[in-house]
Amino acid sequence: MDVQIHNYDVVIVGAGLAGLAAAKELTTAGKKTAVITKLHPLRSHSGAAQGGINAALGADDSTELHEFDTVKGSDYLADQDCVEFMCSRAPQTIRWAEKMGAVFSRDEKGDIAIRPFGGQSKPRACYAKDRTGLTLLQTVYEQAHRAGVEVFDEYYVADILYKDGKVSGVSGYNIKDSKPVIFNAKATMFATGGYGRAYKINSNAHANTGDALSIVARHGLPLEDMEFVQFHPSGLGGSGVLISEAARGEGGRLFNSEGERFMTKYAPNAMELASRDVVSRAITQEILEGRGVGENKDSVHIDLTHLDPNIIMTKLPELRELAITFLGQDMLKEPIEIAATAHYSMGGIPVDRDCHVKKSPTELVDGFYAAGECSCVSVHGANRLGANSVLEALLFGRHAGETIVKDLDDGKLSLRKATIADADKMLKEFKRVKTSNGKERVPALREELQNSMTENAGVFRVEETLLKQRDILNDILARFDNIRIDDKSNLFNTDLQEAIELGHMIEFSRFIVEGAIARKESRGAHYREDYPTRDDENFMQHTYLTLKEDNSIAIEYAPVVQGKFEPIERTY
Ligand SMILES: Cc1cc2nc3c(=O)[nH]c(=O)nc-3n(C[C@H](O)[C@H](O)[C@H](O)COP(=O)(O)OP(=O)(O)OC[C@H]3O[C@@H](n4cnc5c(N)ncnc54)[C@H](O)[C@@H]3O)c2cc1C
Repeated sequence: MDVQIHNYDVVIVGAGLAGLAAAKELTTAGKKTAVITKLHPLRSHSGAAQGGINAALGADDSTELHEFDTVKGSDYLADQDCVEFMCSRAPQTIRWAEKMGAVFSRDEKGDIAIRPFGGQSKPRACYAKDRTGLTLLQTVYEQAHRAGVEVFDEYYVADILYKDGKVSGVSGYNIKDSKPVIFNAKATMFATGGYGRAYKINSNAHANTGDALSIVARHGLPLEDMEFVQFHPSGLGGSGVLISEAARGEGGRLFNSEGERFMTKYAPNAMELASRDVVSRAITQEILEGRGVGENKDSVHIDLTHLDPNIIMTKLPELRELAITFLGQDMLKEPIEIAATAHYSMGGIPVDRDCHVKKSPTELVDGFYAAGECSCVSVHGANRLGANSVLEALLFGRHAGETIVKDLDDGKLSLRKATIADADKMLKEFKRVKTSNGKERVPALREELQNSMTENAGVFRVEETLLKQRDILNDILARFDNIRIDDKSNLFNTDLQEAIELGHMIEFSRFIVEGAIARKESRGAHYREDYPTRDDENFMQHTYLTLKEDNSIAIEYAPVVQGKFEPIERTY
């Protein structure tokens, strides 16, 4: 089969905020850069970000307070050197976006407006109404384009070219006609986003299937802190479609079926604006104890009817539309139904502060970089604060660009040209999936995966259900070998793509579960009913998980970078 081969200085996989911010830096510095994406760039999940992006801009705010809130929010698992780097660069990142043309909402003085978000001691989320991500994505896309980046959209990346400790590009195919391609590059960057689709109730785009994690893991490279999956407190009842934290930031209140404002029991000071893990557990607890609302009693109410309607119409218009569209409920007139939804992945591909991918807790892979949600720096530790992720994607994406420019200019990176044989592994896998004639169906297996992950590895976890989930995943993995897809054509073969994506989802879900079984404590988003307290003595450590030749997953732990904030008990 013909394989098209391209040569670049840099290839970036992913055209969300992280990938495009890097691309903008690289092309501006004159590096020949390709961005590959399975979607049109403006359909990347970054465009769905609603609520905001953090920077300590308020008169009574400071970088140090932002750092403290982030470290406390992380349940002391974040690396404090990286948190300091992010928070101190946040204001200049906002200015950078603003200078490029991002239109932020303004306060009455004409300054960039800021609003409160959960777990933050000061209002610090800058926003563009409730369309912050889209505004930023459009801006960075325009500017990367203007600088001359080349975008290969609707290309699916299936593998990295990895040999002798060095990544020298990627292989994949053109979704339009299934033609295989190889991209050789001196530097390869992953910016492929999150993996919320592994759960039934989730807030993520359909494309968030975590492909890159499994691609990396299948080469025996580690994944970090995979057990930490964030459940956002306010997904619309039944679907999980996101109602941004801005709804609580602007004053939304939570009520159970008895009309009780239940956060008084769980976080008497911060109330609805406690951190996400705390509020998600409170909501789930109320539902489990029979105080849910809605037809299936599987939601609680968020009430915004006491707010000035102007606030809703000017600051939360999209949220109102979403609730009307998906639930037929108008937040101007009535409370709306919400419940916890799988939202964000704190773990991912381990990287150092300069976005170099790690081969082990202490060694780096040559020529390989990652940033944004697919990576684990780690600035979010065990729980991310709202509005810190768009910040991370934009800031570390840009920083990855700077790092690669420097590594290229220092002569550290060279081009290794692949041969057609380097695409063999990928082509074999395609052929296997396409010609397989088994009994199992991809949508049914995917549903089983999503339902069981939500049930057994969700907001509350316990050894028994996690072990059960390990068996379920092994079973699904075995049955995946026996799938059948009907579409055998080469044109926009979404059957083929969904099958490959399912393979990835099964693979990295095993990492989530293995990390969760081994971590016998509760920290941030990882809550073990059988180990309900944090155990700093044994688990103030990052988890590194590696796939072994016998298909088992090995675990080692690595120290957390401590700093000026001593671990204390987290209360809100
Ligand atoms: C509904 C919603 C609202 C949110 N709101 C906020 C908010 O208000 N504030 C905040 O801080 N955070 C928010 N977040 C989180 C934040 O938006 C994301 O973490 C962040 O935007 C991720 O950016 P990214 O660049 O890493 O990835 P993404 O924007 O997800 O981009 C991933 C890219 O990778 C490409 N890709 C993936 N796999 C492949 C493959 N195999 N081959 C080719 N291309 C591939 C995709 O095509 C896409 O271009 C929200 C998230 C959601 C889901």
